[in-house]
Amino acid sequence: MALVERVEGTPGARRRLRLTSPATLAPLGELEIDDASAVRDAVDRARKAQTDWKEAGFAQRSYHLERAARLLAVNPDAFVERIVVETGKPATEALVTEILTAADALQFYAKRARHILADRTVPVHLFKTKKLRVVHRPVGVVGIITPWNFPFLLALNPCAQALVAGNAVVLKPSEVTPDSGRLVAELWKEAGVPEGVFQIVQGDGETGGALLEAGVDKIHFTGSVATGRRVAEICGRNLVPCTLELGGKDPMIVCEDADLERAARGAVYGAFSNAGQVCISTERVYVVDAVADAFTRRVVEETALLRQGDRGEFEVGPMIRAEQLAIVEQHVRDAVAKGARVLAGGRRNPDYAGLFFEPTVLDDVTHDMQIMREETFGPVLPIMRVRDEDEAVAFANDSAYGLNANVWTRSRRRGTAIAKRIDSGCAVVNDCMITYGVTEAPFGGVKQSGIGRVNGEQGLLGMCHTRSILIDRLGGRSEPAWYPYTARKAAWMRRALRTVWGTSLGRWLA
Ligand code: NAD
Repeated sequence: MALVERVEGTPGARRRLRLTSPATLAPLGELEIDDASAVRDAVDRARKAQTDWKEAGFAQRSYHLERAARLLAVNPDAFVERIVVETGKPATEALVTEILTAADALQFYAKRARHILADRTVPVHLFKTKKLRVVHRPVGVVGIITPWNFPFLLALNPCAQALVAGNAVVLKPSEVTPDSGRLVAELWKEAGVPEGVFQIVQGDGETGGALLEAGVDKIHFTGSVATGRRVAEICGRNLVPCTLELGGKDPMIVCEDADLERAARGAVYGAFSNAGQVCISTERVYVVDAVADAFTRRVVEETALLRQGDRGEFEVGPMIRAEQLAIVEQHVRDAVAKGARVLAGGRRNPDYAGLFFEPTVLDDVTHDMQIMREETFGPVLPIMRVRDEDEAVAFANDSAYGLNANVWTRSRRRGTAIAKRIDSGCAVVNDCMITYGVTEAPFGGVKQSGIGRVNGEQGLLGMCHTRSILIDRLGGRSEPAWYPYTARKAAWMRRALRTVWGTSLGRWLA
């Protein structure tokens, strides 16, 4: 069943969607869709408000981010409860991955944005008569389009980066999790962000499409490869810069000398956290033959300890979208048909009406299976045995995706060397998935996993136009390169070329 359904409406009225809980299948109410004109109005209001916001300065803007962080810290459960209602994820998971990470990001940018985005003088190697100032200015109005898997964090975090840099924001949260988007809007309001600076528009792909065409100055998109491609096409046509945070198929490499206990626990957490609906979930494991039996045994033992549930204490919640559950079932079916063995799970959990798929471990998988090639985005951990680390790296790189990766070995140096050989935007040694939570870490993908980097210094810079301002220091009537062009001037330039770049003086100057 679809959890987001069209409601038949009266002609002329706004479109509406009916929402259902993925955990209990209880009705969650209806969502009124913002149409193209509502989106344009939101962008206009944001643009008007941005002028004063930009001039307000870092101290003022950081104050609002800090206030938002305090509000999260003082009453986290008010946020957790609402996120849990529409996603079904365990409350502890929502607390740690959505609220705590968001509070840290808010405080981080509040404290550091002024320094990271400060104007600075850059020494000039050749044109010593010029002074170079590099300044960062907000792009203007940023359109932020977000997915449903971490509906609060993935909306709040880019908003914080855009706002602190002096931009206004129009957020379009996923239609699957609109209330988490509403929570973000309420938080900014309570934190005192001035009217108009932050706008939210609600709806599905049509509303997202309208935002792409509404005259924003940048798009920050997080979602699937298919939609990302469409977003890139439209941004390309409109010459609007965009960052694309897309899907992943993250490999895990287990070396012979790995701490198998830690690696097995890491594999289970990396694959089943948020029911596998993490762009940087561990989606495929390559374990060196010599330790494959011991590693797999521990993975299966750890998996057996996981509890599913729709209330109270449990580790693995439901899938959040019915369409995604259908993909998970298809990938497992395909793997089994091609010879994979199910060591745990492998089916929907019959104890619940909601979208629960049992934490699943597969063995004997091969690279011709969908489970090893396409993003599954569900609680499935396929394990493949390999001869050695070289073979593991070759398989890891045999993928259209390149978001994150993790490597497990007792030698941190070897782990780092292997991580560097994997074609991915990020990698982790002896841990998994942590990258997005480490606010300093530039985050993003290569290949089909996306374009651009978010978070940390690069995230803030990405919300700005970096401009260079060159200031002449000496004055005088003219410059050597200016008119008139004469034979004497050309001869002088040739002599300068030979003397400076034809000798060691040039190397010293460069
Ligand atoms: P999706 O692409 O279906 O939707 C993402 C957002 O785009 C939603 O808000 C949706 O309404 C909107 N949208 C849909 N069609 C649109 C259009 N034509 N124009 C503009 N906007 C449109 O993705 P999803 O199913 O919500 O999210 C799951 C995907 O997101 C997975 O592939 C996952 O890996 C990826 N993801 C990536 C990251 C990352 O940081 N790289 C993080 C989380 C999720």
